[in-house]
Amino acid sequence: MRKIQMVDLNGQYQSIKEEINSSIAQILETSAFINGPEVQSFQKELEDYLGVKHVIPCANGTDALQIAMMGLGLKPGDEVITSDFTFAATVEVIALLQLTPVLVDVEPDTFNIDTEAIEKAITPKTKAIVPVHLFGQCANMDAVMQIAQKHNVYVIEDNAQAIGADCTYQGKPQKAGTIGHVSATSFFPSKNLGAYGDGGAIFTNDDDLAHVIRGIVNHGMYKRYYHDVVGVNSRLDSMQAAVLRAKLPRLNGYNKKRREAALKYSKALEGQPNILTPKLASCCTAEGSNCNCHVFHQYTLRVLNGKRDALVDHLNEKGIPCGVYYPIPLHSQKAYKDERYHEVDFEVTNQLVKEVISLPMHTELDNEQIDYITETIIKFIE
Ligand SMILES: *Cc1c(COP(=O)(O)O)cnc(C)c1O
Repeated sequence: MRKIQMVDLNGQYQSIKEEINSSIAQILETSAFINGPEVQSFQKELEDYLGVKHVIPCANGTDALQIAMMGLGLKPGDEVITSDFTFAATVEVIALLQLTPVLVDVEPDTFNIDTEAIEKAITPKTKAIVPVHLFGQCANMDAVMQIAQKHNVYVIEDNAQAIGADCTYQGKPQKAGTIGHVSATSFFPSKNLGAYGDGGAIFTNDDDLAHVIRGIVNHGMYKRYYHDVVGVNSRLDSMQAAVLRAKLPRLNGYNKKRREAALKYSKALEGQPNILTPKLASCCTAEGSNCNCHVFHQYTLRVLNGKRDALVDHLNEKGIPCGVYYPIPLHSQKAYKDERYHEVDFEVTNQLVKEVISLPMHTELDNEQIDYITETIIKFIE
């Protein structure tokens, strides 16, 4: 059996090596390292793939979130509601911009933001909601958008983990990241559409907002050397764009491979009394389904008998890497603690951080590896 990896970037590279190497060599020859034609082409191709009017590439996913918030003109003191159970980048940029993060609990089965908790957290100061499509599955965008419309606040989708996923929105599939006023994604190497370095992008269907954001990423310049607003320097470089251009036409295939591996995990582990397999949108459970309702950035189980940490150790001993995303709720992190928070409001997150375990998930997993992983888990957990 091949050695099991949490993410197999090299295996995937080997399968597209010639194409990648030749496009990178070409960039070296033309030396258009920044804002070259590769970046322009990638932007256009991603707009077409997503069905969104504007893609604005930038340096990473954290910048993308920050720039989205700057573009909306959020001001210090404005409250921004987001999930207690996500990667810290989501809340970090809110705090950095001196906005007030308002963390709320998540749903126990999808791990996504609890929309009733959003409704409860709304105040006259609320200016935006940031749903995170955690682990590759959309938050409940129908409910999020309804709440946002009712209270006249913005929606910024954190789409770093769900590029290519279809949300069910108003009864129809629509690409994650194209529903809110603006969204942010990451091309960090291990993400579903990963570069070979850092990268990110902002998406929006709003022409005016797109214009504002294109200036912000470039030092607030709309006309050369005229700085109308305070901006940042956040660029995607041409080599990363070339890698992403090679991978974008393969993204649906990559996501399909992830989904197939996930369904195999779930089939083998279903019915184990101490394990909860991830809940899928119903369209994904259909045999041979082609939909991308869940693109499995992570495949995450809940271990119900208090043996999560022991399982992590056991798997590591057996040569199976795994991860705990995330081990500490954001409201308990030193940087984001606040007197406003009450433990009773975070029942689900407080439980999840003790129970979750993410298994190896990438495009190169084979049946032998999946069988070995699930058999090892079942033997230990029974
Ligand atoms: C990865 C990630 C980010 C940040 O992306 P970077 O490119 O690493 O800055 C933000 N939010 C979520 C949910 C992520 O998973």
